[in-house]
Amino acid sequence: MIPVRDLPSIDRARELVLARTHPLGPETVEITQAAGRILAAAPTAAVDLPPFASSAMDGYAVRAADTPGRLRVVGQSAAGRPYGGETGPGEAVLISTGAVVPTGADAVVPVERIERDGDGVRVEAVDAGAHVRPRAGDVHAGAEVAPAGIALGASQVGALAAAGVATVLCGRRPRLGILATGSELRTPGSALGPGEIYESNSLALAAQAASAGALVEVFSSVADDRAATRAAIGRGLELDLFITSGGVSVGPHDLVRGVLAELGAQEIFWRVAVKPGKPVAFSVAAETLVFGLPGNPVSSLVAFELFVRPAIEALQGLAEPGPRWLPGRLAVAVTRGEGRDELLRARADVEDDAVFLTPVTGQESHMIARSAVANALVLVRRGVGVVEREAPVSYLQL
Ligand code: AMP
Ligand code: MG
Repeated sequence: MIPVRDLPSIDRARELVLARTHPLGPETVEITQAAGRILAAAPTAAVDLPPFASSAMDGYAVRAADTPGRLRVVGQSAAGRPYGGETGPGEAVLISTGAVVPTGADAVVPVERIERDGDGVRVEAVDAGAHVRPRAGDVHAGAEVAPAGIALGASQVGALAAAGVATVLCGRRPRLGILATGSELRTPGSALGPGEIYESNSLALAAQAASAGALVEVFSSVADDRAATRAAIGRGLELDLFITSGGVSVGPHDLVRGVLAELGAQEIFWRVAVKPGKPVAFSVAAETLVFGLPGNPVSSLVAFELFVRPAIEALQGLAEPGPRWLPGRLAVAVTRGEGRDELLRARADVEDDAVFLTPVTGQESHMIARSAVANALVLVRRGVGVVEREAPVSYLQL
């Protein structure tokens, strides 16, 4: 077996995954359904934005050259109900925010800067263009609103809707299956027999995969039985991405890799120089990417973030798949591991102007309950000695 220090690093393993991960291709998505999706092409504005010169204030639309002075009020322009006529010399039109600035007017005097005077108003001096939002001042029709390869968040869907974009081309979401393997696994809610534990990985992985944009199907767990494992994995290979949990180590009941080989999957790597998560296996079977994640719940959680989430993102065409490392500082000194980079579950707290990371007590890979208080994974690169308190580190937000 390859010595630990010669196993692929986290970065190398991620590269190996991404080299085999090709975007699934575009599909048309209604803008109302597009939040969270990845743009496959850059959408362009359907209209000028604003579509017309509009008022930035409640006030009076005027000719700037007429100010200061007394002006006759000849009508009103409300949002969605423009003034029919033109603003002539010596005239003012009552106008509300967002309403069309009438032809002839070139400025708006805010209501705070006027005085009513019979059927007219006395207005203060304004410059031409004051409080007028010019047509297309935000974006021109036909201009790119957002680049391809980004994830659509609230600000992007808002911008696109405003620019009249009704549908966008997005990367197809991967169909992803999750299979927990292990004869000891029971569903929460049922009683535990001798030697049994509650199955938790498929639930955690389903939440992680859904948050990355996958269309998730959780399979019924299988015991460590070759025929059952084979049947379930065979079905998983019809999907875009398949995750197995457990059974990828070297014990007599670890069947996943053998079954995958029997089914014709090509193993790209098995085991990575990372703690926890070392036994992770990555294979490709025809069009399906397969991740064999270790059963220990913390290993499963970590391996997903390092390798599976980037793959789900890349399948949807995200230009810069994760993990998205952030800069922070250690709140306490930690000892490095010699052979493997390590990910510590930690609490991230903002102090002064840095994020300080405090590892939770109990870092062993079966201690999943401790994860409930962690909101970060801190990367401690392998080496000798300790990483001092306050040293800069990279971390992932959980
Ligand atoms: P394995 O990778 O199958 O050797 O499992 C490693 C450890 O993780 C064992 O203690 C298993 O009982 C535990 N484990 C395996 N699968 C799950 C699961 N789906 N949920 C919770 N614990 C699991
Ligand atoms: Mg097992």
